[in-house]
Amino acid sequence: MAALRGGIDLGGTKIQAAIVDPGGKVLGESRRPTPTRGEPRDVASEMAAALREAAEKAGVETSALEGIGVGSPGDVDEGTGVVSGARNLPGWDGGFALAETLKNDLGAEVRVGNDVQVATEAEFHLGAGRKFSSLIGVFWGTGVGGGLVLDGKPWLGRGAAGEIGHMVVKRGGAKCPCGRSGCLEAYAGRGAMEAEARRLHEEGRETDLFKLMRKHGKERLTSGIWERAIDHGDHLAEHLIDRAVEMLGTGIASAVNLLDPEAVILGGGLGVRFGDRLMEPLTEEMRKHLFVDARPPAVRVASLGDLGGAVGASLLFAR
Ligand SMILES: [Zn+2]
Repeated sequence: MAALRGGIDLGGTKIQAAIVDPGGKVLGESRRPTPTRGEPRDVASEMAAALREAAEKAGVETSALEGIGVGSPGDVDEGTGVVSGARNLPGWDGGFALAETLKNDLGAEVRVGNDVQVATEAEFHLGAGRKFSSLIGVFWGTGVGGGLVLDGKPWLGRGAAGEIGHMVVKRGGAKCPCGRSGCLEAYAGRGAMEAEARRLHEEGRETDLFKLMRKHGKERLTSGIWERAIDHGDHLAEHLIDRAVEMLGTGIASAVNLLDPEAVILGGGLGVRFGDRLMEPLTEEMRKHLFVDARPPAVRVASLGDLGGAVGASLLFAR
C-alpha cells in the first residue's frame, strides 16, 4: 500500500483527524470536541485519540503512517514542533512540545504547521486553488486568518507571514482581539462583529440577532445565525456584514497590491457561507483599492469544506 499520512486540524471547538492517501483522498476520519479545561497535555491526548479512531476506520496502524501533520493555532515553530500562545485552548499560554508528545503517543513522525497556512495549501493542491500557482488564502471566521502560496511554494516568512487579519485598514480604528487597533479582524472577525452587535443592541439598536441565537440554542452568533438574520432583513446584521465586506475588500486589495497573486481563496465559516452571495460587493470593494485594476486576481470560495484543515495538515509531509 502506498504511504498513507495522517492529518489533524486542531480548532478551538473541535479536533478533526483524517487518514489521507497520496492523492489526497480521505480514507478515514474522526472528530472530537476540543477539551475546554485542563492543559495542553489533555488536548494532545484527545488529538491522539481522534487520529487513532481515524486510522482504525482506514484499517492502518498509526505507527505505519508515513507521518502525521498537525494544523495548529497559536505561534507554531515548524522546526521544533513547539506551539505557544494558543490562547483559545486551555492552559496554553506558554510553549508545549506538541510534535514530540504526539510522536511518542502515536509512533510516527509528526510535523506541526499553522492551521490557516495548511488549509490554504490544501486548497492550493486539491481544492479551489488548483489552477493557480500563486494565491492568498483568506479564512473569514471567528478571526480572519491568512495563508500564502507564491510560485507554487508556501511562504511562511520567518514563521509569522500571512496574518492578513491584522493588516491595518483604519488607523486608530476599532479595537482588535489582538490588542491593537484598526486591524481588519476588528471589523470582519465574527468575534469582533458579535461584540459590536451586542454594544449597539445595548445602546438601543433593534436587531433579531440575539433572539435568533437563543431560539437556535446557540451561545454565540454563529455563521448560520448571521445568515438567518440577513435573510430576515435584519438591518443591524446587514450593516455589520456590509462593513465587514468593505474592510475585507480593503485589506485583501492591499495584500494583492503587494504580492500580485493569481487568486484569492475565501474560506472560513463566514467565507464559505457568504462567499457566493457577497462575491460581487467584495470584488467591487477590492477593485476600489487595486493599484492595477485592469486584471484583478480571481476570487474563489474554498471548496474542501470542513476536512480541508486536516487534509492540508497531512500535506506537511508532501512539501
Ligand atoms: Zn489585530
